[in-house]
Amino acid sequence: MRRFWKLSAAAAAVTLSLALGGCTQTTGSSVAGVNRSQMMLVSSSELDAEADKQYSEIIAKAKQQGVLNTDKQLTRRVQNIANRLIAQAPNLRPDCRDWDWQVNVITEDTLNAWCMPGGKIVVYSGIVKQLDLTDDEIAVILGHEICHALREHSREQMSQQLVTEGLFSVAELFGVDRTYTGLGRQAAQIGVTLPFSRSHETEADELGLELAYRAGFDPEAAPTLWKKMMAASQGSEPLEILSTHPSDEKRIANLQTLAKNLKASNLQPVKD
Ligand SMILES: [Zn+2]
Repeated sequence: MRRFWKLSAAAAAVTLSLALGGCTQTTGSSVAGVNRSQMMLVSSSELDAEADKQYSEIIAKAKQQGVLNTDKQLTRRVQNIANRLIAQAPNLRPDCRDWDWQVNVITEDTLNAWCMPGGKIVVYSGIVKQLDLTDDEIAVILGHEICHALREHSREQMSQQLVTEGLFSVAELFGVDRTYTGLGRQAAQIGVTLPFSRSHETEADELGLELAYRAGFDPEAAPTLWKKMMAASQGSEPLEILSTHPSDEKRIANLQTLAKNLKASNLQPVKD
């Protein structure tokens, strides 16, 4: 990963991005209407390899601490829901059929869940238990997280940052001072610790809801889920998932409308 943020690479990225502009689409056509063109400068194979490595480390550590998939019932439940979504994901992006998907539950009072690039999922027991989530609500969360991976938002975010770094590097040549923010922090835990942009969140919401609907889950669980999240965030313990996935009334209203539109569309959900 380190080579990504070498100055020379960053400077090259600026030239490259200026030459290529927006250049790819990670997912195909969707009923939800997600079809934005994306600029990708970082290679997906290298990013996926790094994510695999980081995921293995997180899983190995959880195993060592005796908190990996210890609640058999919850693990089975989460894996069943995730597998139904994963089975439908190739409808949005055919090549993800070949991904090495993994789904693990870590017993920890953390209110979070995530999916790293390449389909590496973790759900913390805390979010399911403390928010008393229904299967439909779990599907909405997982659909959202899976769609960050299908849309390769981490790769896009890293590419955007590379351009910014490149521009900063050029600025530095002219003696402009700056505070280093670097990709290192982002590379630390890909798709886990750094907030996505609002447009990435909206895409993950919309495509994720379509994925959940295709898999036979009730999309109307989305507004109830995020309302639960917002209510819980008023309490003493801040919700980790909201620090990376901010929520508000507008977002909830958008999901409510989309849920109705999905139900009124021609899309045929699979029977569970
Ligand atoms: Zn998100």
